[in-house]
This record gives sequence, structure tokens and C-alpha cells, in this order.
Amino acid sequence: MKAHYKSLSLFLILLIFAGWQMGLAQDKKLPNVVILATGGTIAGAGESGTEAGYTSGAVTIDAMIAGVPGITDVASIKGEQISNVGSQDMSFDIMLKVAKRCNELLAKNDVDGIVITHGTDTMEETAFFLNLTVKSDKPVVMVGSMRPSTAVSADGPLNLYNAVAVAGDPNSKGRGVLVVMNDWIHGAHSLTKTSTTAVQTFLSPLRGLVGVSTYGNNDFYSSPSWKHTKASEFDISNVTKMPRVDIIFACADMSPDLFDACANNGAKGIVVAGVGNGNMNKASLDAAAGVVKKGVVVVRSSRVATGSVGRNVEVSDDELGFIASDELNPQKARILLSLALLKQRTPQELQNLFYTY
Ligand code: ASP
Repeated sequence: MKAHYKSLSLFLILLIFAGWQMGLAQDKKLPNVVILATGGTIAGAGESGTEAGYTSGAVTIDAMIAGVPGITDVASIKGEQISNVGSQDMSFDIMLKVAKRCNELLAKNDVDGIVITHGTDTMEETAFFLNLTVKSDKPVVMVGSMRPSTAVSADGPLNLYNAVAVAGDPNSKGRGVLVVMNDWIHGAHSLTKTSTTAVQTFLSPLRGLVGVSTYGNNDFYSSPSWKHTKASEFDISNVTKMPRVDIIFACADMSPDLFDACANNGAKGIVVAGVGNGNMNKASLDAAAGVVKKGVVVVRSSRVATGSVGRNVEVSDDELGFIASDELNPQKARILLSLALLKQRTPQELQNLFYTY
């Protein structure tokens, strides 16, 4: 009888040990993903599930993770709150903080990828900033939502689930900063917000999708061909303030005095969201050429949703000293120009940056 009990307890001990080992093995397989939370609608809360009004950045990262069933089966997750703002209040200061934290975390062996929760309004700007300043090929994935966490059919939980799955996927490596929204995986260079309210707001009109993520199953189609992350020459490790760059929106009969207003208020660069192929009226061309003579860099981009802006097409860039934005929309051209202005560069060098990044 005694011997029977002994072998039974030995069996139970072995069983517990085996279970513990299996648990460990399973844990080991999970990638380590850190979520950096910055705010946005994904962390937004409204009074009721069907009300349009809500406050961005009202929910903490821990509450957001707790609201996504099954997310801890996809990765071993740690959350950090970097800020809690609607992305209309995103600033270069917060972008620098996020970039520096990404670089610190990604240098560690026990971090496999990063997810950044962010408002959608300026998501493409932060994505592009990180694309140029993160020094790692490990996945960095941005995510947001169009509906607040309290809404009926909130899109945030599944977006976050997919983003964590993409960040923990070794196949995401080396593709630059990615944005995961509504099952689609976009590259930072090409994506843009196209609808003020629709859940399917992000498109990558010129270059198409990097892939799709369906309930955490990822399928990659392409890799962005522009220089990014590890290959980027921009280093913000000692930067505490970014140079001011303003955007002027062109229109019929636009006011030329906006150029001097920007320059006189400290802008080191101006991006023109031009009409058509980066055009502006004659008076504005003269005003823009005037500020170039004073040392301000002027980049011609376009207010049109797709297409690139070419050099010397309808405007003589060579003569007037302008830079053409190529495929970058005004808000991304502004990010690149500000980073470029951290150092003295010739117009030719500046133009080459727009062909490279
Ligand atoms: N205004 C919000 C933000 O950008 C909108 C959103 O997140 O969708 O933070």
C-alpha cells in the first residue's frame, strides 16, 4: 500500500514537472513585445456607445491590453505610457521621446518588437519620423483606431491584436516602420489618412500594401524600397529640439505674404502644399524665391492626394532654388526637411534626400 502511494506521488510530481516544463517551453516561444502608448482615439472614451463625441487619450495602456481577449497568447507584453494625447497634439518633443525609447528598447535582446498606439490624425507623421530615426530592423508597428474604446463595434481591440501579432512576427523585420489598421499593413513612406471618420481610412495610394493581418495571421506582399531605420543617416540620439518647418497650403489667388510670415517667425524650412504638380501663383513663387535668398529651404509638395512632384516641370527649381518633394506629401516632406536641417546641406544634397527616403 505504502509503495503504491509512493509511486503515485512520484507520478504526480513528474506530471507537474512536465506540465511546468511545457508551460515554460510555450512561454519561451512567445515573442516579447513592448507597447508604447501615446493616446489617440484607440484610448478614447465617450459617454455612450453610439455618440460621435468623445475624448481622445482617456484610457491607460493597461486598460487597453485588458480589453483585448487572447492578446497575451500572441506575445508576452509589457506596456509603457509615453503620453496620453490626441494626435492633433503630437509634437516633435513627443516624437523624439518615442524614437529614443524605441532605440533603447530595441537594443535589448529580450525585446523582439514594439507597438506604438497613436491617434490617427498625425499617425503618418510619427510613423515617417520613426522610419527615419529608429536604428534597428526589429519590427516597430503603429496602431490606432477610428472609433473610441466605448463605441459599438470599436475597432481598436482587433487593430491592437493584429499590431502585436505583426510586431512579434520575424517576417516583419527589415520592412521599416509599419502601420496596422483595419487588417491592412502599411509602410510609413506611403500610407496616408484619407477619410475623417471611416474605419477604412488609411490607404497607401502610390505603393500599395506591405501586407495584411487577419486575426493575427500575417501575409506580407512587399517591402518598402525607400531607405529607412538601420540604413537611415539621421541620428537623433543627441537632439533635443527639431528645426521649425511650416507648411503653406496653396490655393487659387493665394496670399504671398505667408512666406515672409513663416520666415520672420523662425521657420528654417517651408513646405508648400502646392496645387497640382507643386504649383503656386506667380506672386507666391516670387515670395518663396525671396525667402530662399534669406536661407530658408523651400520644398514644393502637393495638396493633391496622389502622384509625385517633379523638379523643373512647371516651376524652374534650378533657377529659384527650390526642392521637389518627389512622392512625399506635405506633412511627410515637413518631417524629412526638419531632420535634414539638423545639419548644413547643399540644395543638391537636400534634393537627393527626397529621392532616397
Ligand atoms: N483626433 C484623434 C487623434 O488623432 C483621432 C484618432 O485617433 O482617430 O488622436
